[in-house]
Amino acid sequence: MTPWLIAAPAAAVGLAGVTAYGAVHPRSQLFGHTVFQTSQPRKLAITFDDGPNPAITPKLLDLLDRHGAKATFFLVGKYVRESPALAKEITARGHLVGNHTTTHPNLFFCGPEETRTELLRCSEAIHAATWEEPRWFRPPFGFRSPWLGGIVQRHRMRTVMWTLIPGDWRPKPADWLVGRMKPIATHAESIATKRNSPPTSASGDVLCLHDGDYARPNADRSRTLAALEFWLPGWRDLGLEFVTISQAAGKVVEG
Ligand SMILES: [Zn+2]
Repeated sequence: MTPWLIAAPAAAVGLAGVTAYGAVHPRSQLFGHTVFQTSQPRKLAITFDDGPNPAITPKLLDLLDRHGAKATFFLVGKYVRESPALAKEITARGHLVGNHTTTHPNLFFCGPEETRTELLRCSEAIHAATWEEPRWFRPPFGFRSPWLGGIVQRHRMRTVMWTLIPGDWRPKPADWLVGRMKPIATHAESIATKRNSPPTSASGDVLCLHDGDYARPNADRSRTLAALEFWLPGWRDLGLEFVTISQAAGKVVEG
């Protein structure tokens, strides 16, 4: 066997690995510029995917109001068409809405035409309900494709990923989710203790949570509410500001 024949399978595995990394790793820039963190360590961008969800989103809006927190909601077009008044309520309360496709497919397996249609139909639904033009896009499951970046850009949007995705869709108790969200406080504490020394991190977190479920309407996300209820006062005490992606975007760090 020649060395080439031995090396070929390893190279194929390596290439597949790079593609998988580029498709799903939140910090990957392989498939176009991606925003994954905020411009300042004290700015925390809380984001919610897969809504609007009539079972949870109204309670979530009340919770955010109680803590003076603004957030970003990446909406699914089919749910916006079912609950346009709720989508409008999100923007009326001062939050930002973004595009999360219209049917929530894995875009890694969608061709350019299907990808374009998914983005367009979602933006149309959001515009019809809220009169807002989404400027931010989050890919379902975090999966991107080689043509996605160009299509997002042509729709005058920017792709947003995250620094922390605690997995609030898993059927685990709220305590588990509270623990999974601890890195936000740990990051804020490390900044507070180093206030008088040169900053080790010039960026803040983008937290990815879910107020809906792309597969089931009216999904129960009460554990997400409970975990936020636990953390919001603590984060505020640590000096964090709760901002939308646009508010964090004065000089959003593009990795
Ligand atoms: Zn999603």
